[in-house]
Amino acid sequence: MTTPVVTRIAPSPTGTMHIGTARTALFNWLFARRHGGQFLLRIEDTDRARSTPEATETILKGLEWLGLDHDGTPVSQFAQAARHAEVAQAMLANGTAYKCFSTQAEIEAFREEARAAGTSTLFRSPWRDADPATHPDAPFVIRLKAPRAGETVIADAVQGDVTFRNDQLDDMVLLRSDGTPTYMLAVVVDDHDMGITHVIRGDDHLNNAARQAQIFDAMGWAQPVWAHIPLIHGADGKKLSKRHGATGVEEYAAMGFPARALRNYLARLGWAHGDAEYFTDAEARAWFDLEGIGRAPARLDLKKLENLSGQHLSAMEDAEILAAVQDWTARTGAPAVEADRLLPAIGIVKEASRTLPQIVERAHFALTDRPVTPDEKAAKALDTVSRGILKELTPHLQTASWTRDVLEGVVGDLAGSKGLGLGKLAAPLRAALAGRTATPSVFDMMLVLGRDETLARLDDVARDDG
Ligand code: GLU
Repeated sequence: MTTPVVTRIAPSPTGTMHIGTARTALFNWLFARRHGGQFLLRIEDTDRARSTPEATETILKGLEWLGLDHDGTPVSQFAQAARHAEVAQAMLANGTAYKCFSTQAEIEAFREEARAAGTSTLFRSPWRDADPATHPDAPFVIRLKAPRAGETVIADAVQGDVTFRNDQLDDMVLLRSDGTPTYMLAVVVDDHDMGITHVIRGDDHLNNAARQAQIFDAMGWAQPVWAHIPLIHGADGKKLSKRHGATGVEEYAAMGFPARALRNYLARLGWAHGDAEYFTDAEARAWFDLEGIGRAPARLDLKKLENLSGQHLSAMEDAEILAAVQDWTARTGAPAVEADRLLPAIGIVKEASRTLPQIVERAHFALTDRPVTPDEKAAKALDTVSRGILKELTPHLQTASWTRDVLEGVVGDLAGSKGLGLGKLAAPLRAALAGRTATPSVFDMMLVLGRDETLARLDDVARDDG
């Protein structure tokens, strides 16, 4: 029997939800879901000065918006401090850790001397092999008795074997003199206790993996599968920073990308399945594997995101888009839309839209009240001649069946009888119905608005003529 997969995302709640964290969460979520395993959440809140409840809330909301549901109750790392200390004691007991009584001043003096002598400044504690009978009654830290010879090899599923020389790693502190655990100990104990089988995270943690592996070994615990993913870079190939634009998930949500488009995009940021660019959640869940993660840093590309977003909007159900628009207006403070006006228009605007605000913009004709105020360009299309033609059109529309074929016939016939191209009639019609010049097709708009509203809008324009 193989062990069920358990992955986790372990964010530090110190700010926004970074796009890199979102991608790491997505990879872990996809991997767990693909294998019918569990995706757990751990809040790494041990840094009391920097961790805030608001940041935790932002992370929870970000995951929820992205649709990355986690299993079980989130674990607070801080709340596990007693358990971390217990493990440090167990390591003392099994001889893989020791009490170190060296003071900060002594450690500094050691380094000074090493620098002067040109030898390694890695601290070598004189207490490592001291007889406990000689221990003073003084404050101490607990240090790992790390192997000094040989190598620690991380068999990484993305990076391959990564080798660290043990003589270049010091005896790291596990428990501070005030009894609080260090980050390195906390991560290992939590990953073990949570039953994590795969640690998939940014490669900025690769060096930590060597140290964490030593703690796993010291406790005789099986190491998880390690998979360190290259960080996300900006379009210029440099490490992603604010300078490159949006770095927080909430900023992408505010730009109006549907969550499923961002999932698709983030999945492609560093992972590939053949040459598939656009894919659904179901496909991603069926395909995701560690072998598909590349070793080169992925570059953020907003154009590609927009392009994928457009494809997702075209494929989404109208009701799903409506819900996404409502979420977007609520989160950005944009004016709320009337659902029963927007919904019938979504079908004719989604193909040409790449973001949720573009949906709202193109559906303006359905959301706006009569009388429609034309913008500057539309006003120009409504000159006296054009209005006259629209007036002539009205009786034909009063009796026409309200279907696309018939409407196209009616408008086409009138244009023909005037010796005009269809466009000459479409422009003022557009202006009358939508108050704009860039709109969905006039026939689509007429069908969505219905006969009464269409005629009323034409009548408004005719009245303007005095
Ligand atoms: N808290 C770490 C971070 O936010 C993640 C640690 C881990 O995944 O092991 O970068």
